[in-house]
Amino acid sequence: MKILALLLAAIAGTATAADCGPDKLNTERTIVLKREGAAYGTQQHSALPLGDKEVVLTFDDGPSPENTPLVLKALADQCARATFFMEGRNLRQSPDLARRVVSEGHSAGIHSDTHPHLPTLSPEQQLDDLALSRAAYKAVFGVETPAYRFPFLEETPIMLAALKQANITVASIDMAINDWIPEDTTEILAQRLNQSLDKAGRGIILMHDANGPTAKALPTLLKVLKHKGYKVVHLEWEKAQ
Ligand SMILES: [Zn+2]
Repeated sequence: MKILALLLAAIAGTATAADCGPDKLNTERTIVLKREGAAYGTQQHSALPLGDKEVVLTFDDGPSPENTPLVLKALADQCARATFFMEGRNLRQSPDLARRVVSEGHSAGIHSDTHPHLPTLSPEQQLDDLALSRAAYKAVFGVETPAYRFPFLEETPIMLAALKQANITVASIDMAINDWIPEDTTEILAQRLNQSLDKAGRGIILMHDANGPTAKALPTLLKVLKHKGYKVVHLEWEKAQ
């Protein structure tokens, strides 16, 4: 606790420059995944080929007109690239913002259409939700989504089979910061990130760009990564045929 408080105090004094010099978090390298319906993230599947202290930044539930621009600003300030898992309903609401995310160098996948608890739906309803979100993605980006993250990470056999057949990567996670509580402060989120990093050591981090406290805390969270010696790896996918 005390060490983190000192760390946060040190971070608060750091000036922000416009370039991507060594004082920034930066993006260390990019992994380009095949469109082959693989599944990654050790909470449910195999690990991505990452080294010690390499992390992949991921953001769910957007795009959100209120919060996603703050997340984009924080990432740009640190020259860090991320992957956004977007809901179909939000893609239909904010297509320009979704395209802005990708035009700023980030990658995008889908995160269902309306964020249902898929195991409570019939197989037909589950596949309908997938079809709607895929159509929303294609309407906005002009290509098929390369990746899918399950809402609440709740997987079902019918969805796993459908995603595999469509060559869509299932993106689970290796660690999270449990960022959905509106009262969370930047310090609490930074503490959770600190603990998750110490426990997992590498992997895919789940955050939420639609969550106000996360968007507000992100400049600090990225500096926690930098100060702890973590490197950002960006996920991309091969171009669709
Ligand atoms: Zn979600």
